[in-house]
Amino acid sequence: MALLMNKVALVTGAGAGIGRATAIKFAEEGATVVVSDIDPVGGQETVDLVQASGGEASFIRADVSSPSDVAAMVQHAVTTHGRLDCACNNAGIEGKIAPLAEQAEASFDRVLSVNLRGVFLCLRAEITEMLKTGGGSIVNLSSVAGLIGFAGLSPYVASKHGVNGLTKNAALEYAKQGIRVNSICPGGIDTRMLDSLAEQSTGGSMDTSEMMAPLHPIGRIGTPDEVANLIAWLCSDRASFVTGAHVPVDGGYVAQ
Ligand code: NAD
Repeated sequence: MALLMNKVALVTGAGAGIGRATAIKFAEEGATVVVSDIDPVGGQETVDLVQASGGEASFIRADVSSPSDVAAMVQHAVTTHGRLDCACNNAGIEGKIAPLAEQAEASFDRVLSVNLRGVFLCLRAEITEMLKTGGGSIVNLSSVAGLIGFAGLSPYVASKHGVNGLTKNAALEYAKQGIRVNSICPGGIDTRMLDSLAEQSTGGSMDTSEMMAPLHPIGRIGTPDEVANLIAWLCSDRASFVTGAHVPVDGGYVAQ
């Protein structure tokens, strides 16, 4: 039996990387998918990929740091597909690699605005809808950088620790109303974001995988699909007793 049969599921930042893999996985598992991204080209490509494999999806452009965009995004899910059962708050940016004393305020503010304020705005709008229909399941994208420090990435680390804090609070506040909220903490995953981080730290002298693989006990970086598998399971009723958790999907990174 598919994990998400007859569910309506929203994914932010679904125009690329982990978000795109999650939208495709949700559809494979039987959900109708709301694909959202700030980038309409990438978002529409994801919708096309879902539909090409027989799934159902619609696109709505939204910048997760904008309250009006987020409200319109959740409203789109309800008016187009009738309800909202699952959400993956995935949209995120990496920021600049620099020691803390050299981080610019504008760069810090932008990272926090997308990664933390964005998750807050999405949670608020999604929970409001889920309360009307008796519950749901939400997965926030944190990171191993939400569990431990990562030298050079203080805004990103602060934002992802914040995501884990919001996750705990939302889980506690809505547990009795049937809404489960968890976060996942990926290690290095093969996407544009990881390429950008590798490029910033080596100036392009090393391949991303070559640089990041040895940091993971499993000996390689992960794929977006390996992350999407966990997200789909956490969103499904199979995870009915899991809430307020921060689950690593990191090839053993934080076990070290
Ligand atoms: P990515 O850069 O490949 O994709 C991010 C997507 O988010 C893009 O489609 C982009 O257009 C969209 N986006 C960016 N800003 C947005 C905004 N303001 N509003 C809406 N959409 C926006 O990144 P990814 O690697 O797939 O990362 C997805 C999530 O996973 C992020 O939250 C990231 O922090 C987290 N993560 C990634 C890794 C990794 O190694 N790739 C590791 C840990 C956590």
